[in-house]
Amino acid sequence: MVLANYVKTNVIYSCSVNKTIAITFDDGPHNLSKSLVDYLMTQSDVKATFFTVGKLHYPFAIDTQEYQEAMKKAHDVGYQIASHTFEHEISSNVDEFRNSLTLQDDFIEKVTGDRPRYFRAPKGECEEACQANLEEWGYKLIQWDVDTKDWDLETSGSESKRIEDSINVLKEKFAEEKENYLILMHDTENYTISDIAPWIIEKSGMREKGYRFVTVAECLGDKSGMYISGKNYGNDTSSTNTSIHHEDSPISEVIQKNHTNNIFNGNEQSLNSGTSTISIKLISLLPFLLMSLTYLFLF
Ligand SMILES: [Zn+2]
Repeated sequence: MVLANYVKTNVIYSCSVNKTIAITFDDGPHNLSKSLVDYLMTQSDVKATFFTVGKLHYPFAIDTQEYQEAMKKAHDVGYQIASHTFEHEISSNVDEFRNSLTLQDDFIEKVTGDRPRYFRAPKGECEEACQANLEEWGYKLIQWDVDTKDWDLETSGSESKRIEDSINVLKEKFAEEKENYLILMHDTENYTISDIAPWIIEKSGMREKGYRFVTVAECLGDKSGMYISGKNYGNDTSSTNTSIHHEDSPISEVIQKNHTNNIFNGNEQSLNSGTSTISIKLISLLPFLLMSLTYLFLF
């Protein structure tokens, strides 16, 4: 008799695909996220992952359309949008914890049309009970294996020293030429966007060594698993955007219903993000269509 292997593997510290680098940004979307997304988009072979919150730094993302637009843009070009709780905290009360995740998933879905499956705990603090809950609720818990410590301006003393310190951490790690890297940063720090992230992408030499900058899901070989919908976005997928858009068809009504709370309600983007539900809805419409046809023939 073979005994099952009960080793828990629900906390992920590293990528698993060879020659990948997952750059991740926590705590946005905020006032700098737009420029980061715009910068990343100038690097056509680069993807990134955002662990987002709704309510952390003021003005809150949940209230600020400009920040939400940055998140939506990132999502639509194929960057991964994941959860980092709603208010950047995990309650010891399990119902409050669950509620915080639901609030953030609702927020992400409202903006992007997708619900995330990936999660990072604030400060990476998630003990066994927290891990068990996340597993039960179907989340993948992501940590990191390179901490740039970009948030820690105090220890470095100045922004230029912070940049230098973070780049030194990265240089040391990259010199090891490990199979892959999962890097922690924050899109709430201006020097991360202006210096640290561009250094990783353009000046570290890793690209030249054959490393690819991909999402966390892709670096784990789980490209279609980043969202509940199973959808991928961006220029390297062909299955995401179909031109199903007929103003008066039941399909668009179904999609509209699905996205009644979508702040981008009615535009092409929300239709695109709703296409995953189309096939299911079409199937559910079949009996109705058959009945209508039967009725037409009989009468
Ligand atoms: Zn955080």
